[in-house]
Amino acid sequence: MKCQHCRIGHYQSIQVPYIQWHNGRILVMPHAPASSCDVCGYMEYDAAFIYKLDYLLDKLSEQSPNLAPKQAHPIFIKSAQWSPTRRS
Ligand SMILES: [Zn+2]
Repeated sequence: MKCQHCRIGHYQSIQVPYIQWHNGRILVMPHAPASSCDVCGYMEYDAAFIYKLDYLLDKLSEQSPNLAPKQAHPIFIKSAQWSPTRRS
């Protein structure tokens, strides 16, 4: 199938990571099906995969209790204080 973006290349089936926020949590699918153009590199996820994933996430949201933490605390990472130094 010809690329809809550059209209020169053809799509090749690939597997790429898929990352999505869901109910305050991050969902990572390391090997999501996708297609990539062999000329311009345009990439799009498999539409059936996205549809099925959204369906499953909707079903999961309806049935599972809210597992999100009740109170979120910001995370502060202590780092070395930056201070200007002057060398002359
Ligand atoms: Zn292309």
